[in-house]
Amino acid sequence: MVFLGQVQWILALYLRQGSVVGWIGAARTYRRRAMPTSIGAALKSLPAPAAADAEKLRFIEELTRNVDSQQERVLAEILGRNAGAEYLSTCGLDAATADRATFRSKVPVMSYEDLQPYIQRIANGDRSPVLSTRPVSEFLSSSGTSAGERKLFPNVKDELDRRQLLNGLVMPVINRCFPGMAKGGKGLFFLFIMSETKTPGGLVAQPVLTSYYKSEQFKNGSDGPYYHNTSPLEAILCEDAFQSMYAQMLCGLCQRHDVLRIGGSFASGLLRAISFLQLNFKQLADDIEAGKLTSRVTDICVRDAVAGILRRPDPDLAQFVRTECGKDDWAGVLTRIWPNTRYLDVIITGAMAQYIPALRHYGGGLPLVCTRYGSSECFFGINLRPACDPSEVSYTIMPNMAYFEFLPVDDVAAGDDDARSRRLVDLARVEARREYELVVTTYAGLNRFRVGDVLRVTGFHNAAPQFRFVRRRNVVLSVDFDKTDEAELQRAVEVASALLRPHGASVAEYTSRTCTERVPGHYVVYWELLPVTTTTKCAGAVENEATVMGRCCLEMEEALNAMYRQSRVAFRSIGPLEIRVVQPGTFEEVMEYAVSRGASVNQYKVPRCVTLPHVIQLLDSRVLSSHFSPSLPHWTPTKPSD
Ligand code: AMP
Repeated sequence: MVFLGQVQWILALYLRQGSVVGWIGAARTYRRRAMPTSIGAALKSLPAPAAADAEKLRFIEELTRNVDSQQERVLAEILGRNAGAEYLSTCGLDAATADRATFRSKVPVMSYEDLQPYIQRIANGDRSPVLSTRPVSEFLSSSGTSAGERKLFPNVKDELDRRQLLNGLVMPVINRCFPGMAKGGKGLFFLFIMSETKTPGGLVAQPVLTSYYKSEQFKNGSDGPYYHNTSPLEAILCEDAFQSMYAQMLCGLCQRHDVLRIGGSFASGLLRAISFLQLNFKQLADDIEAGKLTSRVTDICVRDAVAGILRRPDPDLAQFVRTECGKDDWAGVLTRIWPNTRYLDVIITGAMAQYIPALRHYGGGLPLVCTRYGSSECFFGINLRPACDPSEVSYTIMPNMAYFEFLPVDDVAAGDDDARSRRLVDLARVEARREYELVVTTYAGLNRFRVGDVLRVTGFHNAAPQFRFVRRRNVVLSVDFDKTDEAELQRAVEVASALLRPHGASVAEYTSRTCTERVPGHYVVYWELLPVTTTTKCAGAVENEATVMGRCCLEMEEALNAMYRQSRVAFRSIGPLEIRVVQPGTFEEVMEYAVSRGASVNQYKVPRCVTLPHVIQLLDSRVLSSHFSPSLPHWTPTKPSD
């Protein structure tokens, strides 16, 4: 099977010329320069898996040695195929003949707000070549939001091949760091899809991973990190979150000795799976003992698929699950239940770094491996040192995925879009230790689009810069897929604090943080109320205060973006929002602490999100009362932007 994977990969490079021109171009150049007959012969003498891996590793070497020429070629390809698209013509660009300098001088840097009118037209049914000359096959709905609604990005058919081929480079890199992995074994990857919606013009809108898991490339792919997964495809493709998770967990337990790696997409998802096991292990053990799936899983396809794995009663395994999961101490539980696991594979950079301590706790010292960096706009790159410490993770952007430019972060605020466009730096010209915001031009028709991620250059692999993910521009709070920015938080506080007015109170200051000590994590918002609401007054109306504050929590949730509400309602991956009312004067103390550490009193601004342990401790030590949202906010999957 692995040999088949090798053949398919090479075939993909040689045969999909019409669809993955970028890769083919790169592969041809690579072949010419790096694959003379003698190397080909040498590869043939290797065992098939090793030869396949060696081929891909050499491909990575070639790509990273020739970053600038790859980027020149990619831009020429993108412009060549999108010549005739309305947007580029509007910019005054003759895309068919334009070179890099002309492209840079004519096409401005753009944000989602600039893109939105074009997206709206396509969503409403305009089939003319608006952004790309290739037909838009679907929209990818991002977890990023604009004005509270999920952003939509156009996708074109061959983009999936490009993403699949990038995924195909992950396992050779891992196999190099974890010898013996290529020999067999399985991954226990918890993968989920979300329901799709339709735009008014009839195009499907769905998250990028949903689109990928449903694709032929995923179903038939014979390489990539998810190949040889313990989860049957039917379980992954089940839209019911409980049934999908239950079936994947049960199949993972039944094949526990085969599992070499455990993971999911983001760290929060793997922790959700562990919490699910805590809540459901008795039922899971009963099913294993009986050799029969619970009637709570009703999806016939899932039932059939699980029946192929849960073939007969296994009382020993059932007893093992009861004993292990019944222990009070869950430290290292993953290594006890899946004893052959070599590492955990999840995204642990950016907002997900908050889950590292929990993963270490449950993983009992297993390496945390973080392999990929991508988005709805485009897949960007991979981590070439997957065995490194989580704090060291850097991604090498693959120069054949899109045309990449970088806006120096110091310059982001300066000037208008024209001035910004002039300051963009090419991938091959970023400088070590500087921070940049990522800007992409994609095959699917985004032109000089600001992704919103801030990256720091940590070094180079050959000529390819490596980037540490620093933060998402403007995002202050994120527990799962949600990304809440400062403006959304501000608005939510304003809307909710209006409920205090009839009671003669208002919010003097606020800040926030995520609390991920328990699963699911939740938002904590600290409110200091104006002295008009004295503690005595509040204490005199305890009942009333609790009810009002509970309503404030819910009102904040209602005012937060669609992704937050979807995570609360549909995925239950975020817990009820909490408001902690702190003593008057607390924020003064927070400022004094900042000043004592060198902040200027004149320029001091209350941070709208706190992460410093000392400040969190200070705030928590001043809490007068704590209140949770009493119910779920509204969310319905009716609008495509939801
Ligand atoms: P979405 O468009 O919903 O797929 O979200 C993409 C965004 O998720 C990226 O732009 C990043 O902000 C974040 N993201 C994706 N991969 C990583 C990663 N490996 N590390 C940190 N953040 C990531």
